[in-house]
Amino acid sequence: MTKKALLEKYLKIYEPVIGLEVHAQLKTKSKLFCACPNEFGGKPNSHVCPVCLGLPGVLPVLNEEALNLSIKAALALNLEINLNSKFDRKQYFYPDLPKGYQISQYDKPIAEKGKIFLTEGKSVRIMRIHLEEDAGKLVHAGAERLYGSEYSLVDYNRAGTPLIEIVSEPDIYSAEQAKAYVQELRLILLYTGVCDGNLEEGSLRCDVNISLRKLGTEKLGTRAEIKNINSFRSIEKAIQYEIVRQAELLEEGQSVVQETRLWLEEKEETSPMRKKEDLNDYRYFPDPDLREVSLRKEKIELLKRELPVLPAEKRTVYREEYNLNKEEASILVADPERGRLFEEVLELTKNPKKSANWVSYVYAYLKENKKELSQTKVTVEKIAQIIRLIQEQVINESAAKEHLFPDIMETEESIEKLCTAKDLKQITDLDFIRKEIKQLLEEFPEQTQEFKIKEKQKKLLSFLMGKAIVKFKSKVSPQTIKEILEKTLDRESK
Ligand code: ADP
Ligand code: MG
Ligand code: ZN
Repeated sequence: MTKKALLEKYLKIYEPVIGLEVHAQLKTKSKLFCACPNEFGGKPNSHVCPVCLGLPGVLPVLNEEALNLSIKAALALNLEINLNSKFDRKQYFYPDLPKGYQISQYDKPIAEKGKIFLTEGKSVRIMRIHLEEDAGKLVHAGAERLYGSEYSLVDYNRAGTPLIEIVSEPDIYSAEQAKAYVQELRLILLYTGVCDGNLEEGSLRCDVNISLRKLGTEKLGTRAEIKNINSFRSIEKAIQYEIVRQAELLEEGQSVVQETRLWLEEKEETSPMRKKEDLNDYRYFPDPDLREVSLRKEKIELLKRELPVLPAEKRTVYREEYNLNKEEASILVADPERGRLFEEVLELTKNPKKSANWVSYVYAYLKENKKELSQTKVTVEKIAQIIRLIQEQVINESAAKEHLFPDIMETEESIEKLCTAKDLKQITDLDFIRKEIKQLLEEFPEQTQEFKIKEKQKKLLSFLMGKAIVKFKSKVSPQTIKEILEKTLDRESK
């Protein structure tokens, strides 16, 4: 049986139950407890100091910007902010963790009990958000496979950079929903300026907890936790793989082991990493070097006021106020740069539909030519000007779409000049149009005569309109053609 057929078979028997733990890198200038830069990459071990290297005698100081961003994330995701929270030490040994413990939040996280609304009207509850520091990075030198290297090197640039962990309730019931959840979460963090949302650089990392239960039952099954997933595609693939793996175990009367598994990108499989028992004893205790975090309500109010319009609200505005359809709205909102371009064009044209259309032509061009908007010469004013010329019927929309690309993207030539050079300007000389239409009718004497017959008028008119549009190469507006054609026909058919 193919993978797909197996999946379909088991989904008729079992329902997957999924909870996600998402780590998001905060977009701060410096690390969580020291002044080292919070930047991706850099020469190994160049962004380090005694604090983030965990040298003896140093004291951590909480970065207020990180605290503020974590609160903004919590507000945007509808969580309740804890006015008092604290930091705890999570002890474990690993070479990328120089202190021998990670500073995290255990029983008093920054916020709890939130909810995220997915686009198709489904919501997922969020259990908690807590702040913590990231670990460094091991580079497995000469590695064929992840753990197959002869020796490893460690880069502490990432050690101590700020993260929030966002833990969902097990409210997700399919691979598609899991993907939609992470996409919406990413977008909210992007809009609020909390995280750059770059999955490839690891700014957003996702652990998937998944269990199965018989369809129609309530009780949760035993879960596996999948780590090392770094794309939307792998979220779906890893879940689909686990559904089949767990279902096969259950069908054979075996049980699922509660364990952490790794997603192997190339093989498209998960493989066991460690059993749950091995990692439970972190011996958490409050970090004596850090004070409890006490927040004033005024501070939270201030941060709330700084929140931008969030994606869900934007979609509603686009649909209800601008009359865009569901798909147009979500495409624009899914890419903040594209949404901004749309809004700026709209500001000038006051025509949402045409603004959305022309922005989509621009993006189709970018996609086809594998370019970024910033690598082109197109401007808000240019797009707005084209739309204005279309509205004033100086140029025809489909002709403009066909002939103005790629020049509007690649040159600085004015729209005025381009329209003249490409002969796009509409014909407005009415005498000329009348003369041409008269000539056209002479080519179709039979049809012209039949126009007398009332029942045939509609069909004849659209036939002749078609001929006229071709004759004028779309350079006369259909409205003008229709008016003149009707008058001329009335006269000629008498
Ligand atoms: P841990 O700290 O051991 O990972 P948590 O209680 O923090 O445990 O839960 C982690 C994640 O696992 C949460 O997102 C939660 O929704 C999810 N989860 C818990 N139980 C199940 C289950 N039986 N099936 C699927 N997901 C689950
Ligand atoms: Mg976990
Ligand atoms: Zn440092």
